[in-house]
Amino acid sequence: MLELLPKLPLYWSFYHLGWPRLLPFSIVASVSYRCNSRCRTCDVWRKDSDDMSVAEWRQIFARLGHSPFYLTFTGGEPFLRADLHELVIAGAELCQPGVITIPTNGLLTKRIVDQVGQICSAAPRSQVGINLSLDGVGQEHDEIRQVPGNWQRAMETWQGLKVLQQQHANLVLSVHTVVSRFNAHRIREIVEGLAFLQPDSYITEVAEERVELDTVGWDITPAPADYGPIADYLSARARAVPARGLARVTQAFRAQYYQLARRVLEEQRQVIPCLAGWASGHIAPNGDIWSCCVRAEPVGNLRETGYDLRPIWWEEVGHLRRLRRSIAGRECACPMANASYANMLLHPPTVARVAREVLRP
Ligand code: SF4
Repeated sequence: MLELLPKLPLYWSFYHLGWPRLLPFSIVASVSYRCNSRCRTCDVWRKDSDDMSVAEWRQIFARLGHSPFYLTFTGGEPFLRADLHELVIAGAELCQPGVITIPTNGLLTKRIVDQVGQICSAAPRSQVGINLSLDGVGQEHDEIRQVPGNWQRAMETWQGLKVLQQQHANLVLSVHTVVSRFNAHRIREIVEGLAFLQPDSYITEVAEERVELDTVGWDITPAPADYGPIADYLSARARAVPARGLARVTQAFRAQYYQLARRVLEEQRQVIPCLAGWASGHIAPNGDIWSCCVRAEPVGNLRETGYDLRPIWWEEVGHLRRLRRSIAGRECACPMANASYANMLLHPPTVARVAREVLRP
């Protein structure tokens, strides 16, 4: 984290002045659309998936070099790829990110535990975060995910990961809940019902209509009037957990994030500038480049640039200039967590609020 701080003003300058030209410090790699869940909040599993091979991803990571600090490997269900660990380890070795994050539905217990162990061993200098997706407790989770027995298998995976954590100090285990119209009315009970898992952190995200997930028009996002009290509850809860050092900073950002998400839902505008397309970016399974998964507008393809992001990101080929104009003109708004955290880091008033919270006795 500390190594990222001096670069933040440069990203701010890149966004406002177009200089210096930088590669994103937060990259989401969608490794496949395939999924063994059938969530009521997602239709990605129906999409054809033209997945890049590990060899292709290796070339991408080699050309990215050490620019990404955050590398997220997502899907679909990323662990459906039997070679996911090879792909993640390639990213860890070639990019040396500070933080690797992998969300999972927890259905493939043995593969997940085996592969996470290998990733943690091969990437000792990266924090490896595994986010187990749980949208309810017990049967309620299975109904939202539409997979009978999902809860039980997720619990077995969690237990396996907890044992693994005793051998790997760089493994961070989080529980992640998507807040949608299906569970918003029960969020307090769900949060309290999941507390027995004792995750290192508990994260929620608002269900959104995303082009990537084919959920545009699905009406899955909680109504702003329903989300407001949830945001207050989640912010208060984030602040209440005792923490020190970096964990306290993370908590303060989380408390700010819930309030930001609330305002975005209420005001339907970019409450703070979005730097997706400058500081954060998304690579689709087939090598398409997006600013983010909400818009999922391809602005170029890595297979056509020798797996080099630079020509696309620096507007030598493709359509990123047009998309950037639209984003900077605030023609879109969303509370997507990944982009929002990068945006908050680059928004001085938010950073000041976080600093005040951290320094509060
Ligand atoms: S505001 Fe949301 S939809 Fe628009 S570019 Fe940023 S992350 Fe994407």
